[in-house]
Amino acid sequence: MSNEVGLNECCDNPAKAGRKTKKDPIRVKVRDIEIGGRDIIVIAGPCAVESMEQLTETAVSVRNYNAKILRGGAFKPRSSPYSFQGLGEEGLVMLREISNITGMPVVTEVMDTRQIEMVCKYADMLQIGSRNMQNYPLLKEAGMAYKPVLLKRGMMATIEEFLLAAEYILSQGNEQVVLCERGIRTFETATRNTLDLSAVPMLKHLSHLPVIVDPSHGTGLRWMVPAMAKAAIAAGADGLIMEVHYRPEEALSDGKQSLDLNEFRQLMKDLTKIATAVDRSI
Ligand code: PEP
Ligand code: MN
Repeated sequence: MSNEVGLNECCDNPAKAGRKTKKDPIRVKVRDIEIGGRDIIVIAGPCAVESMEQLTETAVSVRNYNAKILRGGAFKPRSSPYSFQGLGEEGLVMLREISNITGMPVVTEVMDTRQIEMVCKYADMLQIGSRNMQNYPLLKEAGMAYKPVLLKRGMMATIEEFLLAAEYILSQGNEQVVLCERGIRTFETATRNTLDLSAVPMLKHLSHLPVIVDPSHGTGLRWMVPAMAKAAIAAGADGLIMEVHYRPEEALSDGKQSLDLNEFRQLMKDLTKIATAVDRSI
């Protein structure tokens, strides 16, 4: 890492996550889907797996509109312990079933080291959420798993801390890590988080790992998602992860930031144009 960007040159540098060891960007494989190539990869699906009906309706539609990977949480990190916590293993079973039917690989969050083995049984990619970006035992355990990892930026994490979190995974031997900018905490309250799109070129400058953006958690507002999704692609993101629900108003979590199926279809159309403009495809 160079001092030019203000990262210190001490012994806890992100040596493996940084560009020093690997000069060229890498591609992360999630079954037959590659993140980090010319193709922009869109990951879409509900915030939480709620029912077979909800998951099927949503998954089939997003696949038809060209999403490549299905998302859906079975273990949900909710601010309140009284909010819906996810269906747990039952949700994982549903994800696997829909994945087999639609042919789409699935990514789902793992919140605890004790869940890793179970989640690995069902998921194609492990998601480590914002709140767990500095859960070092979890990062190490994910580093020993034979699954690609989607690592979300902590809401209070600097770029350096983010890369060092990725380093925990890489240092255990798992080099299949995708970085996800999902918004950070600032003084601003108009949006749920402040989506730091400057993190995209910076992370790509500093690291060889693919970078994707989550405009759903980044804004918290459905109507803002399309604008920020387009901006993310224009800024050089390798993909997007977005919350989509067949009935957002009935969602058990994050309905306010979830696109409905029509909005998602329209957005995918618009994104094709942005991708072409930056010499990429969707
Ligand atoms: C999510 O993807 O549903 C989620 C909880 O994301 P984050 O960890 O970024 O808040
Ligand atoms: Mn969510």
